[in-house]
Amino acid sequence: VIFHEELFAVVFASLAIIQMMTVSASEHCTAHENFSLVLHGGSLTVVENKDKQIALIMRVLDDGRRRLRDGQRAIDVVEATIRQLEDSALFNAGRSADANAGGFVETDASIMDGRTRAAGAIASMRNIRNPIAAARLVMDKSPHVLMVGDRGEAYAKGLGAEAAPDSYFTNNGRILKSKSPTGTVGAVAMDRCGNLASGTSTGGFGAKIPGRVGDSPIIGAGAYAENGVAAISSTGHGESFIRFTVAADLAARVKYLKQSLDQSAQAALEVLDESGAEGGIIGVDATGNVVMRFNRAGMIRGHTTENKAPIALAY
Ligand code: ASP
Repeated sequence: VIFHEELFAVVFASLAIIQMMTVSASEHCTAHENFSLVLHGGSLTVVENKDKQIALIMRVLDDGRRRLRDGQRAIDVVEATIRQLEDSALFNAGRSADANAGGFVETDASIMDGRTRAAGAIASMRNIRNPIAAARLVMDKSPHVLMVGDRGEAYAKGLGAEAAPDSYFTNNGRILKSKSPTGTVGAVAMDRCGNLASGTSTGGFGAKIPGRVGDSPIIGAGAYAENGVAAISSTGHGESFIRFTVAADLAARVKYLKQSLDQSAQAALEVLDESGAEGGIIGVDATGNVVMRFNRAGMIRGHTTENKAPIALAY
């Protein structure tokens, strides 16, 4: 009996240690490779906010750089980065997401882990405080990828997504008609272990028809990540990004045609240009090269690597 109890104790302790090791291995990179973080804050159409946005981006990049330097995983840094942008009330995502034509906010977001190509997304949600965190919960805690609308929202809350009342969202009850895309946020990262991750979060077009979903929560359109290839996040005319599967097509150029990230991003923008669509793309490849490209209107954006201090740009 004693033998059995001791054996159980040893097995139990070993299992606990193995579990702790697995958890820490999944949370931290012990390799000491270079890392990259790139983010965007959508098209530059509300110029009054520009200086505040740039200042915030610098702080957020600084925070992300510290996290990556400490060995945090790309997926965690992407989520933390986008959360801060959602909370800032300076972008069309999270707290200050644009209202739809019905005067209420509906948020869309997605996140993808390049290590496993696990992905999670939410769309048309009204009372979720951090859409990117809800997308992460769908990825981590459910067998699904995309949850939508009221029923999807109830499910996401059941997974642990934090709710926020209507009054939390600064644009509820304020319809701002914007014909062009504005202020969507996104981030891509490569961590010290070479893992890639991407995420995108938005309120979609201002005054959109209730129920309309853009590209941001569509894996392969508004976000994509695959280790050894690239991580991409986009902003712009969502319908075009969905039709041209922009993020997946860009990654496919890197993967199959062996084009550089920059060439691939250029090709993706040419496709958008030909159809008259507006857009911007950020990306990082398997060696940490970054790209930030857009057509027409400026794109608020910034990046940092192990060797490069944060830089934020608007035009
Ligand atoms: N792509 C987003 C959408 O169509 C909008 C944006 O990026 O500003 O919902």
